[in-house]
Amino acid sequence: HAKSSGRNSYKFYTADLNARAREILAIESQLRFALERNEFILHYQPQVAMADGRITGAEALIRWNHPSLGILGPARFIEVAEERGFIVQIGNWVIREACRQLALWHGQGLPKMSLAVNLSALQFRQQDLAEVLETALRSNGLSADMLDVEVTESVIMEDVTSTLQAIDSIKGMGLQLSIDDFGTGYSSLSYLKRFKADKLKIDRSFVRDIPNDADDSAIARAIINMAKNLNMQVVAEGVETIDQWRFLKQEGCDLIQGYLLAKPMPPEEFAGLLAKGSLLPEE
Ligand code: C2E
Ligand code: MG
Ligand code: MG
Ligand code: MG
Repeated sequence: HAKSSGRNSYKFYTADLNARAREILAIESQLRFALERNEFILHYQPQVAMADGRITGAEALIRWNHPSLGILGPARFIEVAEERGFIVQIGNWVIREACRQLALWHGQGLPKMSLAVNLSALQFRQQDLAEVLETALRSNGLSADMLDVEVTESVIMEDVTSTLQAIDSIKGMGLQLSIDDFGTGYSSLSYLKRFKADKLKIDRSFVRDIPNDADDSAIARAIINMAKNLNMQVVAEGVETIDQWRFLKQEGCDLIQGYLLAKPMPPEEFAGLLAKGSLLPEE
């Protein structure tokens, strides 16, 4: 019996591999047309002030409405886009679309907030990144501080010189800067001194097991204290439970983002949420 089930799981495994290989092919062959076919969409997830539940911002997260595979999350195609060199164009579209959407909401009289976009390493190496950002802001009548650029430690460490240069000019223009997935990259804390980020986002992996896991709780607490001492706002990512919320609030975390409050959602739905203005869990 053991033998036959081993055989089955082997078959299963190759079937999975074939499915994954087919998926990668379907993704690679369609990705180059996705922009011109208007197949990308942004979903929005609120960032909420723990003190009063106010929606102070949102993160724009890309999805691809693939012609045969349906709606795909970034994990399914961003790497391919980076390898094939499509990511700069896609990333520039994200910047423009996020600005267009934010201006639309502001124009509808919805409460003011900032919008965060994720940038890939290659975008920080593109010569005209500052110009792309500037144009997107200006043509939508937005002030620079309404846009929040998220960069991961891994992106910084991949090419420290060019990333820091780009970050300097982004900060110089007055945009907000967030360090994403903080604590997961192989990085040196010295870059935190080199430029002033506005926000530090505690990675979801440290949030998941608080408050039960003593080590993760200690790490989350340390990150919160460090961020405060460096005058940065601290955001906890991936908050799913009320116990995590209580712990983070008690430790003085400023902002939270997570399924406990809201999943990333299409713009029409987000507008409804923003109209209410605030979002608190039932404690
Ligand atoms: P990220 O920037 O760290 O974004 C947060 C991810 O955590 C999002 O996944 C979000 O849906 C998910 N998340 C938020 N709250 C919770 C929670 O409570 N529980 C759980 N389990 N997950 C939660 P998503 O949208 O699949 O994005 C994954 C990653 O893809 C992002 O991680 C970011 O690195 C990348 N990404 C997303 N949009 C873009 C983009 O426009 N450009 C680039 N270059 N990368 C992007
Ligand atoms: Mg992010
Ligand atoms: Mg993150
Ligand atoms: Mg991430």
